[in-house]
Amino acid sequence: MRRFPTEAEAIAYFEKLRWGDEPHCTRCGADDMVSPKPRPGRYWCGHCRQHFNAWTGTPLEYGKVKLNKWIFAAYLLMTARKGISSLQLSKELSTRQIRRGTCCTACAWPAGRPG
Ligand SMILES: [Zn+2]
Repeated sequence: MRRFPTEAEAIAYFEKLRWGDEPHCTRCGADDMVSPKPRPGRYWCGHCRQHFNAWTGTPLEYGKVKLNKWIFAAYLLMTARKGISSLQLSKELSTRQIRRGTCCTACAWPAGRPG
């Protein structure tokens, strides 16, 4: 099952879930001075003068795995009856093995990251 074959589709889905129809800054909450940037899913806030995206402030913020793969991983984790190993997860996602602290902050903070 590949509901989001591209990262752009996953970003659009995640944005719709978090914001509805209009993006607003995930740092300060402003929605009037928000401008999209060329990179998909990235925005600039004129109030707090910082970049943000729909997953800023979530455990995915410092993740290294693309959003479409992360959503698919969450699906696999929730539907696997007996759990799933990190090796099996990496095979399903067609990526290298996901180790502790690699995929998101929910797994663990890598050393040196803000906590
Ligand atoms: Zn802001």
